[in-house]
Amino acid sequence: SKVPHITLNNDVAMPQLGYGVWQVPDDEAATAVGHALEAGYRSIDTAAIYGNEEGTGKALAASGIARDELFVTTKLWNDEQGYDATLRAFDTSLGKLGLEYVDLYLIHWPMPAKDTYVDTYRAFEKIYAEGRAKAIGVSNFQPAHLERLMGETSVVPAVNQVELHPQLQQSELRAFHARHGIATEAWSPLGQGKDLLKNTTVTGLAEKYGRTPAQIVLRWHLQLGNVVIPKSVTPSRIKENIDVFGFELDDADLSALAALDSGTRLGPDPDTMNG
Ligand code: NAD
Repeated sequence: SKVPHITLNNDVAMPQLGYGVWQVPDDEAATAVGHALEAGYRSIDTAAIYGNEEGTGKALAASGIARDELFVTTKLWNDEQGYDATLRAFDTSLGKLGLEYVDLYLIHWPMPAKDTYVDTYRAFEKIYAEGRAKAIGVSNFQPAHLERLMGETSVVPAVNQVELHPQLQQSELRAFHARHGIATEAWSPLGQGKDLLKNTTVTGLAEKYGRTPAQIVLRWHLQLGNVVIPKSVTPSRIKENIDVFGFELDDADLSALAALDSGTRLGPDPDTMNG
């Protein structure tokens, strides 16, 4: 397919661009994911807390696409952290998705005040050893959380999925990932479709290339080496967001986009998120 794959630290291949389904209601997920699969997406990013694992699973089954051509990610929610609770929550997710394995299972947030992510990850290692997740990783982990996890467990996380877009470029965290062989996956890659897509640097580049602002931002991610999972329920935008492999930004464009980093988070701060 036209979407390139990156190789994770355990040799599993992951599509560099996938489809995220946060805030898609369960009864609309089958349709939305169906549109994405039709448009050529093969990687789907859901989570237990999104409440749409069933709808997602229905679309996967209805598509008739071979299981080994799909890449399905789900995540463990915060209130299920802990060894036994994690094993139970994983079974529930797998059941809702209607799958025998997921490609990637992530701890959704570190929840440092709760101090259970190490035990949680030990359950992930068991799930991984059983082949029920082809890769395991984390989400919203800061370098200190990753250091601690790697110090106390044996499987280096394959992925850390974090908020990342031109206004929050996460340079330090990306360098940390690169040193440790952890893939960087960007959530809210389009800055949730807010002011980022109206920024004049972005709209100027869109004009220069005859592309849309969203396509410029996705190109920036891909050229940085990030995995991206843009979300839309609008079929035309779903298509637009995967049609980003026919052009390339040049060094000057990348520098102009680098200047947009303001360190602004749209979501919670992982160090203090405890809900
Ligand atoms: P996003 O940056 O993908 O933006 C999505 C929004 O941008 C859409 O709702 C729409 O309003 C707009 N949009 C999409 N395509 C567009 C286009 N082509 N032109 C104009 N506007 C467009 O934001 P997101 O949904 O927050 O993030 C993507 C995915 O990341 C989620 O669906 C979810 O899978 C994942 N995520 C993970 C976490 C986490 O904690 N791990 C948190 C948030 C999101």
